Amino acid sequence: MEGIQNMKSALVMGAGGFIGSHLVKKLKEEGFWVRGIDLKLPEYWSTYADEFMIGDLRNKEFVERILNFRFDEVYQLAADMGGAGYIFTGEHDSEVMTNSVLINVNVLRQAEKVGVRSIFFSSSACMYPEYAQESEDNPGLKESDAYPADPDSEYGWEKLFSERLYLAYNRNYGMKNKVARYHNIYGPYSTWQGGKEKAPAAICRKVIEATDEIEIWGNGEQTRSFLYIDECIEATLRLMRSDFSGPVNIGSEERVSINELVDIACSIENKQLNKKHIPGPTGVRGRNSNNDLIREKLNWDYSMSLSEGINKLYTWIQGEINK
Ligand code: NAD
Repeated sequence: MEGIQNMKSALVMGAGGFIGSHLVKKLKEEGFWVRGIDLKLPEYWSTYADEFMIGDLRNKEFVERILNFRFDEVYQLAADMGGAGYIFTGEHDSEVMTNSVLINVNVLRQAEKVGVRSIFFSSSACMYPEYAQESEDNPGLKESDAYPADPDSEYGWEKLFSERLYLAYNRNYGMKNKVARYHNIYGPYSTWQGGKEKAPAAICRKVIEATDEIEIWGNGEQTRSFLYIDECIEATLRLMRSDFSGPVNIGSEERVSINELVDIACSIENKQLNKKHIPGPTGVRGRNSNNDLIREKLNWDYSMSLSEGINKLYTWIQGEINK
């Protein structure tokens, strides 16, 4: 805690993860004193946090220790999560729901006790109902499309419950919690192998390693939009420092099919690969962000093209493979 006098303080939970580790870096650049919390240190780079406490946020006593004063900014990004291979197979459902809900309940109760004014909570586009995502040409999910609720994964149901919990604390305890619905965030220093990696990293890795063929789950016509990490951090900070609570989408409106994403990755080194479509978890048919609300409330929009962002991720993964 040395040197904290006269500095703004921030608590980042999930600071050992992809988005959390980038957020810590940004907050340090802005001059904050930062305490990072996670089960583990960041895997691919060193943390920028002034203090990093390793522990389990499912444990109430641990949460009491780490959230022991009124931080200026509190970010809750810790969650049990992974790509489609982790959250859509059904094998981890009870763990995913139990773990994340325990974290959020512990954090909210303790934050309210010590007088924290506002917590940023990262919800997900996975909370949108399946019936609104049956078509590949999804024009973009508006925040109001959330109800009647019917997420296609238990991960999505937990996010929906927890976003309501954060907003209930606003109503009942006068807090100003903020809820963002992230849509597929990607970029360097993210998981790129081992089963928890997301589509952009998995595809870059497969393309880098392939010589003539690449395997794709499903027919590859399912669509998504992807937001580059730096833009996600910028929108996160803007929401946190606004008067608006959300829920609000933080995403890109550049919708592509998985086959197109593969083509973008292949174009970087001019690789001609045969796409082999195999059975696998694919999630909903079409998902895209509608950014009308965030444009209106926060004057924020994405600006980086997918091909520019994928180029950066590809180059980083190539470096990791060659290490
Ligand atoms: P991540 O898995 O890289 O980071 C989450 C971190 O939480 C991990 O480092 C993990 O160790 C930590 N954690 C999990 N359980 C914990 C516990 N019990 N105690 C302490 N730490 C614990 O994921 P990410 O991509 O950085 O995502 C951050 C947040 O944003 C998550 O809440 C996620 O659900 C949400 N989100 C991410 C995306 C995306 O595309 N990356 C999309 C939608 C929502």
